[in-house]
Amino acid sequence: MDHTSFTDLHWMLDIIQSTNLGIVVLDQEMRVQVFNRFMQVHSGVEASRIVGERIGDIFPDLPLAWLERRVSTVLDLGIPVYSTWEERPWLFPFALTLPIQHELNQMYQNVMFVPLRSPLGTVERVGLVIYDVTEIAVAQQQLQEAQIQLLELSRTDGLTSLWGRAYWEERLREEWRRARRNSNLASLVLFDIDHFKNVNDRYGHPVGDEAIRAVARVVRSCARDIDICGRYGGEEFGVILPETNAQGAFAFCERLRKRVAQEPIAAGDAVLNLTISLGIAELNAQLGDSAEWIAIADQALYRAKEGGRNRTCIYQ
Ligand code: GH3
Ligand code: MG
Ligand code: MG
Repeated sequence: MDHTSFTDLHWMLDIIQSTNLGIVVLDQEMRVQVFNRFMQVHSGVEASRIVGERIGDIFPDLPLAWLERRVSTVLDLGIPVYSTWEERPWLFPFALTLPIQHELNQMYQNVMFVPLRSPLGTVERVGLVIYDVTEIAVAQQQLQEAQIQLLELSRTDGLTSLWGRAYWEERLREEWRRARRNSNLASLVLFDIDHFKNVNDRYGHPVGDEAIRAVARVVRSCARDIDICGRYGGEEFGVILPETNAQGAFAFCERLRKRVAQEPIAAGDAVLNLTISLGIAELNAQLGDSAEWIAIADQALYRAKEGGRNRTCIYQ
């Protein structure tokens, strides 16, 4: 080796030691040839202890079969292989040294496996370059969580936390298709608070809002998990009852109606005695789409209002 290439080698070694990447070189027997400073700092294992040893003997927690497959692919094909944190969050289990405001406490890693050629051109060693991608992983996971929350929020009615109209109607179309396809039973309930304008007029809008929220709580407590409760309009609600015929829906409606009528609702300084009127439409084969299903439930609701309110009508 002449003087120039010797100094080249020297500064290259300096770079390998001081870089903020993990660098490990393995031979064909998975013995460690190089273990740079990044690796020593994060693992607490000195290079002098690991060089010459099989990596699995020093790191018993490594996914050794996976690692061996990667290494032999690179040895056989002579091409680099990349593994991302999405596929495997980390190769080396390094505890985080920086307190990051997140439940993650491990370093997330991307790993590049690089074929290292001998002067004769054969690949006898594999270099592992380990990238600390914890910040990216944390940001990505926070983004995903935010997206899920945002989606949930966009589907939910802000006042009652029931499903908002757009999403509820989406679920109605879905349930309509599903029930039609499988010839399942399903019923639709629409109901509306009686003489609600009086509440607003007498007590003001905030009390009215509180009353709407209280009715929503009663609906939720009467419904089963599979029932789909939504706020259809101002003080109108819709409930999709899968696997339920008109008689089953009637039992549900009467339970709901009686509870609303019997439980005085405390809202602001007022104590309100509210009633609701309900319309039921059982799904039938004549309905062309979910809008027709809504229309006949609405007709039943209208009849309940016409018939004197505080009652349930089934569409015939
Ligand atoms: P009916 O028995 O025929 O249903 O009589 P109603 O007075 O309840 O009449 P209707 O259902 O047509 O009127 C609904 C009223 O509900 C109109 C509006 O003042 C009130 N309202 C609608 N949305 C809200 C809301 O979000 N908050 C409050 N406080 N009031 C609302
Ligand atoms: Mg009303
Ligand atoms: Mg109304």
